[in-house]
Amino acid sequence: MRAAYSSFRHGAAVVAGLLLAGEALAVPAPGYDLILAGGRVIDPDSGRDEIADIAIKDGRIAAISTASLGGGRRLDARNMVVAPGFIDLHAHGQDPVAERLQLLDGVTTAIDMEIGTLPVADLHARMRGKALINFGASASHICARLQVLSAKSCAQSGPHQVAADPAMLAKSADPTQERQIADLMDRDVKAGALGYGLGIEYVPGAGRREIFRIFQAAGKTGAPVFTHVRSRPLDKASGVPIAVVQEVIADAATTGASLQIVHIASTGLGDVPTLLELVKGAQAHGIDITTEAYPYTAGSTAIGSSFFSDGWEQRNGVSYEAVQWPATGERLTQATFERYRKEQPDAAVIIHVIPSDIVDLAVTDPVVSIASDGVPWTTSGEHPRGAGTFARVLGVYVRDRKLLDLKTAIAKMTIMPARRLEKISPQMARKGRLAVGADADITVFDPAKIKDSATFEKPMQASVGIRYVLVGGTLMARDGRVIDGQFPGQAIRSGLAQP
Ligand SMILES: [Zn+2]
Repeated sequence: MRAAYSSFRHGAAVVAGLLLAGEALAVPAPGYDLILAGGRVIDPDSGRDEIADIAIKDGRIAAISTASLGGGRRLDARNMVVAPGFIDLHAHGQDPVAERLQLLDGVTTAIDMEIGTLPVADLHARMRGKALINFGASASHICARLQVLSAKSCAQSGPHQVAADPAMLAKSADPTQERQIADLMDRDVKAGALGYGLGIEYVPGAGRREIFRIFQAAGKTGAPVFTHVRSRPLDKASGVPIAVVQEVIADAATTGASLQIVHIASTGLGDVPTLLELVKGAQAHGIDITTEAYPYTAGSTAIGSSFFSDGWEQRNGVSYEAVQWPATGERLTQATFERYRKEQPDAAVIIHVIPSDIVDLAVTDPVVSIASDGVPWTTSGEHPRGAGTFARVLGVYVRDRKLLDLKTAIAKMTIMPARRLEKISPQMARKGRLAVGADADITVFDPAKIKDSATFEKPMQASVGIRYVLVGGTLMARDGRVIDGQFPGQAIRSGLAQP
């Protein structure tokens, strides 16, 4: 299935964008719509790393050449790195505010694969013609469960489904309901959802058989399961949190489902080295399993969610003072924690819980891709990961601390996530790459200046050092400013969907 690109519209949009940005323009020569000239083109998929021009036509890359290309409007990319646009497979903020900050962080495709939504058609309808960047979602287990167990829908839940209807989340499903839940998710994958989104920790009522049924469905459709694993058992002897990761690996092995375990650093904490052994061991034995991380020492979730069910302090080795309230920045006490949990269960809090050496290990390990886990901006004080994840990896991990080389870091945010979805979505086979015929989703940044600006104290700040961001050939951001009035973002759909 091909995305419906209109070459005329895209060409016109580029011109409009440049004029809006106040450019003095020559009349474009016929040929290419745009040429990114003289940048260091890094394409981890092919291994290309050289100074070259990239020409764009009709939303796609039309030529890449070490000789200067003519016949189109030129954007100067000298001294810049030209990379495929960053792909974030874990973006909960599917709204204009989140999109702007992500765009300014170099992200051209942002998909919520962890929690997802249902029906996905609602998301597509809401975003159609209004999206700055490409978007999509997995089929949500929580939404399917709401429908089957409570006869409600996710249209009625708040921004964080994980705190929606605690009674439903705690209830167990009977065998018939388990099949109905899997069937509903399956139907949505066939309607365009990109996989099966499971936040098992948030659904304490979901038994192992309920989860296994969903993996069985995934094994049949070929769409991947993305999962936040079950809550770690309190009983140390059962192997915290190894057992809960073994559950989903066993389900993948026995069903043939593809699996991505999300945010391995916040899931594993001190056990990340062992979890990575599990992931690599499973890969070595033919299981299609991947994982991801964000580059921060704090996690975030809704204060009313099951993450904070009894025993959360023992499970995570921290207490109230590790929890930060975004609206004020205050660290909580037992009293304020209990009050906020009761009064505003949907509000996302920040939990300072991940050791810095664990973050470093996860971000730099070759099997771990980068994903933000950015949450919707409802108070302006949410976790900075929704604004700074990608620039932070390139600025802190590559340039300042030299823990990653540039090409490897770019691979973690482009070709690795593209490959994760391209088996189910042919659209993704044209993303995450700089190659002739690929979509012109391109991020151009200054490797000496790229830097995240979002902090835990002031999270809603755009990254700096990104010169241009192109989405489907349309120049969408330039020097830290969004070029308004253009909406090139496309829905990314599973290939099982009827066009
Ligand atoms: Zn999660």
